[in-house]
Amino acid sequence: MTDTLTFTGHCLCGNIQFEGRVNPQDAIAVHCHCKDCQRATGSGFATVVAVPEAALRVTGEVAEFTVAGQTGGEVSREFCRNCGSPLFTRAKLSPGLRFIKAGVLDDSSWVTPAMACWTERREAWCLIDDQLPGVPQNPNLTG
Ligand SMILES: [Zn+2]
Ligand SMILES: [Zn+2]
Repeated sequence: MTDTLTFTGHCLCGNIQFEGRVNPQDAIAVHCHCKDCQRATGSGFATVVAVPEAALRVTGEVAEFTVAGQTGGEVSREFCRNCGSPLFTRAKLSPGLRFIKAGVLDDSSWVTPAMACWTERREAWCLIDDQLPGVPQNPNLTG
């Protein structure tokens, strides 16, 4: 028996709000060190929580920027046009999932990263938990 996890979040300016409800085992958190995440966040990695798309309700107008992913599938990065906060990502390689940037959650204390991905792009100045399992490129989250 697991309790349903509910969460809320918003971008920096508040124009985009979201809320969700998932079974905890369906919310998978990872650190991603790929170069695109580094550029999109301006940091060493993105911590994202993958949730089923249907679990997430978003209000406000989300802008998106789509690029060819680093291993082929398109990746759409969703953000707030007003304040620039990165919010969500959709990836062709992970159909049915939406990746929430952990930092835009109102309460992210429940987020427990299970692994690091794209560790081959991890920079020496970016320190994270060495005990975390890592994969050199994309993880397979949709099995
Ligand atoms: Zn905003
Ligand atoms: Zn990435």
